[in-house]
Amino acid sequence: MTTVAAYAAPAAKAPLERTTIERRAVGEFDVLIDIEFAGICHSDIHQAREGWGTAIFPMVPGHEIAGVVSEIGPGVTKYAVGDRVGVGCMVDSCRECDNCKAGLQQYCTGSGGPTWTYNAVGKDGQPTYGGYSQKVVVDENYVVRIPDGLPLDVAAPLLCAGITTYSPLKHWNAGPGKKVAVVGLGGLGHMGVKIAAALGAEVTVLSQSLRKKDDGLKLGATHYYATSDPKTFEHLEGTFDIILNTVSAPLDFDAYLSLLKTDGAMVNVGIPEEPVHILLSSVFGNRRSLSSSGIGGIPETQEMLDFCAEHNLGAEIELIGADQINEAYERVVNSDVRYRFVIDTATI
Ligand code: NAP
Ligand code: ZN
Ligand code: ZN
Repeated sequence: MTTVAAYAAPAAKAPLERTTIERRAVGEFDVLIDIEFAGICHSDIHQAREGWGTAIFPMVPGHEIAGVVSEIGPGVTKYAVGDRVGVGCMVDSCRECDNCKAGLQQYCTGSGGPTWTYNAVGKDGQPTYGGYSQKVVVDENYVVRIPDGLPLDVAAPLLCAGITTYSPLKHWNAGPGKKVAVVGLGGLGHMGVKIAAALGAEVTVLSQSLRKKDDGLKLGATHYYATSDPKTFEHLEGTFDIILNTVSAPLDFDAYLSLLKTDGAMVNVGIPEEPVHILLSSVFGNRRSLSSSGIGGIPETQEMLDFCAEHNLGAEIELIGADQINEAYERVVNSDVRYRFVIDTATI
């Protein structure tokens, strides 16, 4: 066991504070990672504040982890000391169900599903702790390689925001000739814009206001509309092949579904804390689909990192010290993030 400095929420809705946690001894197939950077995802806030239901405390959030391997177990074959690596939302799964065998570990149907990086219990019966800490021990099969061309700080957010947008954009065939709308220009949304544009799609941002319009166009969007303006919905009716909704709060889904073409798909990746309602008439008229997607499997996460390195796509980040985490949480909740806060874990 190793004692490691971390930032934790001691209880639901309590501010995060510095603490220490124990990491397990490096096992046969484990790698020890010296964490350099950890992104702040809105999911960290939903969980630290119990917005999604009862959680495990103390909680060390963080599932956008980038660092360097500093020790390996005797059975490790994929990584060596010094390798640049990342860890996302999962640190284990059953490895035997059809989804695990297909590389879709995020949809593991084994008992308990995937082992989440934090706010979960590992196979050793101990709580898992995330990336707001200086070191983590992870089985090599749940670690990915960060290509040399990607700096670790801008790569960290790709481990959740990158894969959560890449996976549905690929699955619903975003590419040349396709019109993609990204709803919400936050952490996920800004990566959705970059990745959809790199895939060759024509990208529109639908944001609450026009205040981030210049940024949206620089990130790769061709069009940018304010959803606070009712004319936006009239003007864009029946326009999109794909709508990627990244908003953390409930929306008027019927209004957004009306923007899809016949056979268009709205893919929801935002996970609001309250239920949403839709009228079935919003989908049946034009054979529209309403779907959702959760992060991505380990092989696709590696594919996404390689794609981002090839296209020179890192996240737009604001690097912060650990003592600014609570302030950053408030800014994320207020949609005041451009576009991902990343913790320099050396400051913990
Ligand atoms: P974020 O950085 O806070 O971005 C969310 C964006 O949604 C905001 O920047 C804002 O964009 C818009 N928004 C916020 N409140 C709104 C409201 N009341 N009405 C309309 N728009 C609003 O959050 P994130 O880290 O990207 O995460 C977004 C959501 O995805 C969260 O619910 C998170 O838990 C979820 N998530 C899901 C997965 C998955 O696997 N499915 C993975 C990661 C995260 P504008 O200012 O441009 O309007
Ligand atoms: Zn996340
Ligand atoms: Zn499984």
